Amino acid sequence: MPYTANPTPDGSRPIAVITGASSGIGAATARQLAAAGFEVVLGARRFDRVEALARELGGRAIALDVTDRASVEAFAAANPRVNVLVNNAGGAQGLEPLAEAVDEHWRTMWEANVFGLMLVTRAFLPALEASGAGHIINVGSIASQESYAGGSGYTSAKHGVTAITETLRLELLGKPIRVTQVDPGMVETEFSLVRFGGDEARAQQVYRGVEPLTGDDCADIIAWVATRPPHVNIDHVRVTPVQQATATVVHRG
Ligand code: NAP
Repeated sequence: MPYTANPTPDGSRPIAVITGASSGIGAATARQLAAAGFEVVLGARRFDRVEALARELGGRAIALDVTDRASVEAFAAANPRVNVLVNNAGGAQGLEPLAEAVDEHWRTMWEANVFGLMLVTRAFLPALEASGAGHIINVGSIASQESYAGGSGYTSAKHGVTAITETLRLELLGKPIRVTQVDPGMVETEFSLVRFGGDEARAQQVYRGVEPLTGDDCADIIAWVATRPPHVNIDHVRVTPVQQATATVVHRG
């Protein structure tokens, strides 16, 4: 659905920065925010992908590893103006019970979903405030609110995203910065392929008998929250496929 970006206080074209824009929800968000009138700035490690998408959307692409402070600071320095920051980069690794937890999986999940989100947000906060009408949109997950067996590395990291969103909402009160968290259930992207180390058959099993959300379904919500009037803060949106009631209760037809 088409939405229209709010005019900026200084009359300049609004700028949206999207992390993890090389795939899935982030790439779809870039398309929809560009369609809403934002100049889009795309960051991800796979630079060839963000570069191609930025060219198509008339935006800009910058190589970004959200876990690397120097990379994040260079990314922010290249973008002194920003109106909307979509913290989307992240994902899951493995599905082991805690007794078999893989250190490297946990580090990757915590570094990308939690530490990286902090680095990027901290780096952009001055520019968001200076914009006069900034907006931080954190992509959490149904795993930001629920736990499931085998998921503690990911659910604990995404619960961390909820804590950060709620904290930012308190800390930024009185400043012209909105804070939103969007928590999707099952979305068919590269998420499960990454989670299962490239095992396509296992990744496909996740969506067996279900019509999952698409990246576009989530991007539609992100574009909607970003284009509400500046005094309206959508705090939290949880969205699932109609066949998914909780993280683990799914009707498979
Ligand atoms: P995806 O297709 O695997 O996309 C993940 C994106 O994150 C990619 O663009 C990837 O880019 C980027 N990324 C990962 N680590 C990064 C890092 N260190 N630095 C920069 N970018 C990084 O999966 P997706 O479903 O679109 O996931 C997007 C977000 O939605 C994630 O936060 C995920 O946890 C969340 N989510 C997904 C689902 C689902 O079912 N799919 C459900 C709820 C929440 P590069 O690899 O090119 O760097």
